[in-house]
Amino acid sequence: MNFAKVFKPIVINSMELKNRLVVPAMGSNLANPDGTVSDRLMHYLVARAKGGFALITTEAVSVSPHAQALRFDLGIWDDKFIPGFKDLAKAIHAYGAKLAIQLYHPGRQTSRLLSSSVVAPSPIPCPICIDPPKELSVEEILEIEGQFVEGVRRAQEAEIDAVELHGAHGYLIAQFMSRYSNSRTDAYGGDIEGLLRFPVEIIRKIREKIGPKYPLIFRVSGDERVPGGRGIQETKVMVPILQRAGVDAFHVSTGVYGSVQYIVPPMAVPPGFNVNAAAEVKKVTSVPVISVGRIDDPYLAESILNEGLSDLIAMGRASLADPDLPEKMKEGNLQDIRLCIGCNQGCIDRVFKGESISCLVNPEVGREKEMALVPTLRKRKVLVVGGGPGGMEAARVAALRGHEVYLCEKENKLGGQLDLAAIPPCRQDIAKAVNFLAQHISKAGVKVNLNSEVNLELVAKLKPEVVIIATGGMPLIPDIPGIREKKVMTAFDILKGNVKPGRNILIIGGGSVGAEIADLLSPLRGRKVTLVEMLPEIARDLGDESRSFLLESLIQKNVKIITGAKIKSIEADGVIVERSGNEERLLGFQTIILSVGVSPVNDLAGKIKEKLNIEEVHIIGDAKEPRKAINAIAEGAEIGRKI
Ligand code: SF4
Repeated sequence: MNFAKVFKPIVINSMELKNRLVVPAMGSNLANPDGTVSDRLMHYLVARAKGGFALITTEAVSVSPHAQALRFDLGIWDDKFIPGFKDLAKAIHAYGAKLAIQLYHPGRQTSRLLSSSVVAPSPIPCPICIDPPKELSVEEILEIEGQFVEGVRRAQEAEIDAVELHGAHGYLIAQFMSRYSNSRTDAYGGDIEGLLRFPVEIIRKIREKIGPKYPLIFRVSGDERVPGGRGIQETKVMVPILQRAGVDAFHVSTGVYGSVQYIVPPMAVPPGFNVNAAAEVKKVTSVPVISVGRIDDPYLAESILNEGLSDLIAMGRASLADPDLPEKMKEGNLQDIRLCIGCNQGCIDRVFKGESISCLVNPEVGREKEMALVPTLRKRKVLVVGGGPGGMEAARVAALRGHEVYLCEKENKLGGQLDLAAIPPCRQDIAKAVNFLAQHISKAGVKVNLNSEVNLELVAKLKPEVVIIATGGMPLIPDIPGIREKKVMTAFDILKGNVKPGRNILIIGGGSVGAEIADLLSPLRGRKVTLVEMLPEIARDLGDESRSFLLESLIQKNVKIITGAKIKSIEADGVIVERSGNEERLLGFQTIILSVGVSPVNDLAGKIKEKLNIEEVHIIGDAKEPRKAINAIAEGAEIGRKI
């Protein structure tokens, strides 16, 4: 396929784009603390321009010094921001791409920790952010409208090619446009005209100030996906009014914070789930429409355009996973595209915690400059022990840099725990990450040996100069009376298919692994599953978006969840559970599955250091300290660059 539709240029007002692929706004926490463009942010965005995306959109940039939704938001409320944006625009233009700036005000979707004022059309708190907002007076509304106009004026002065007004995701403009958050009875609420007064006034004032030729994109949630929120039919009534006010393109997203699992949909949500909303908007507007929402696959992008469902495709997380996706599509080099798996671990989960953006499959995100691959000056023989994600990434990077790399894996396949993580329902996309690494270590020239358990003799025979221990972890066996009972097995045993569980199952440990196993062995398969967790909630190690779908599934499948409970002993006929100081006997389990974490496996490192004369021995991933796959891959990427 030559992706003819994707690579057909398109015009938005006065801006010509070389293809139809857009990097949408994504919070990154990469800005300087004063809200200016940082060096890291610059390299991060420029990498996507270099990779062939036609339009790069900045993350949401605040128009007000009093209103931020992230710890390190960009700002544009003062002329001091212009030079940084000017440099960014210049750097983006050097690769033939265009730069759009997304302007926003969070309104009620923030907290007093992040914003000195939490305001909204009406004093209705956001169910997620909770801090009660102050209702804006008409005078304050007009002041914020002026801030948006000044933001556009500064963007134009910075030679940014287009502005996107953020009217989606439940931020201030969207709050005015929805009865979910706007109960005003004055001119800024009520009927459609009232709900639209705030954005329409902003758009008209922008046009008055900067004229008709500057490209203005409007981002809108087609459907807010919350009870009382706006649906697609009302959005379709609003779109023509916004176009008449001066909008040049619509970018159709979905959701508000109360439905954040659809704003940043995890792998449980089907690819392209939101395309229909763009198609509906396209029916009522004559300007270009951008679709967005888990469009990670080149073929899906081409088919959406081919069917005329939208005119452009925004690929946010896909651009994180692989900034060179457009160039690889153009070259027909599809097997080299690192696909986003919808895990959210590196991107939104980190950003919502106040950390800088990253990516599970691409640890270079946000560290593009420091992680550039530099060929080694001294080729060395490197042995990587363990073919899990961290070991494979370390081997891949080291080989690409010119080292002679051997990887030994004791199992008959690569992937380690990440391979097992792809087994439960809705987790299959994880396999894409495993497959990418498995294919690319061979492509990089790594010599892979499966069914090869490494011992001292083998290391001595191979004579490596560097050993990387990436042997992962083994199931943690808690010290509970009765733990050696025959019916007790581990989460690994289940995922590896080594054992057959009975019909009545107890899972000890309600972290994400335990909860996903409950989902796998659910009553829908004719089994009865009980999940016991010590903490007050289960699966707290998952981000909210992924967690919400998992919890919904467990409820649907009637999994019995017992939280705040500790297993005291395992008996022949059941278990003793302690909850709130009381002991309770739970009976009748044929199978008890342990899912309480892993302990590191790294004995070999000590033995090598003691007995052999090897230049360097490194331990990475779970072998160093049990954590998530994102940590293992990041450590592999780092050590591969360091040796
Ligand atoms: Fe995609 Fe996961 Fe990377 Fe986010 S962290 S971009 S969801 S692969």
